[in-house]
Amino acid sequence: MIKAKIAEIFSSVQGEGPYVGQVQTFVRFHGCNINCGYCDEARKDKFKEYSSQELIGAVIKENNKVVSLTGGEPLLYAGFLTEVLPYLKKKGFIVYLETNGILKNKLLEIIDFLDIISMDIKLPSSTGLGAYWKAHAGFLEEAVRKKVFVKAVITDKTSMSDIKKAVSVIKGINKDIFFILQPATINNKMQKIKSAGRFLNTANSALNNVRLIPQVHRILGLR
Ligand code: SF4
Repeated sequence: MIKAKIAEIFSSVQGEGPYVGQVQTFVRFHGCNINCGYCDEARKDKFKEYSSQELIGAVIKENNKVVSLTGGEPLLYAGFLTEVLPYLKKKGFIVYLETNGILKNKLLEIIDFLDIISMDIKLPSSTGLGAYWKAHAGFLEEAVRKKVFVKAVITDKTSMSDIKKAVSVIKGINKDIFFILQPATINNKMQKIKSAGRFLNTANSALNNVRLIPQVHRILGLR
């Protein structure tokens, strides 16, 4: 029987992107395939192992309409999710995936059971890592089959050229896709990004649905 490492399961308010304010059940998977410089999750090492039946039971118990698969990187558990998601869909849950937007083949294993995809574009100047432009473009080409929006975390190190590259990845697929610029929260402090206005203007000049949205759950003091 496949088991998944899950850091926590809890109800809270979605604090990011266009669904901000919606009550969801969060299933936070343990571990990630990359290691962003601003990440406060990938380095944590507390988790519990769940079987698919145990996870289904825990989600039903939280009793919310929307279940958010978050992490870490939930797509690392695509095989496990192929056992869980068909059942949750049959029960009428709305399934929301938060992903770093890199693992396209894993996405394809579960895309039929997803409703909403919150996909990151990882800006090298924000993450301190290499670029994933090609992987992101391939991922987004598939994700558009569902309700998808793209999110990029910005820090005071984010470069304009990375914003332009992210915009061109999205524009190459559909300029109506929502693009959210999200100021990073580092050590529980939301960063003030001096260039945020310029980033917003640049993205707005090429795309139709750009927003600057901070992590609202942090402002509200929620998880
Ligand atoms: S992709 Fe997300 S979970 Fe993974 S290291 Fe980056 S911020 Fe952390």
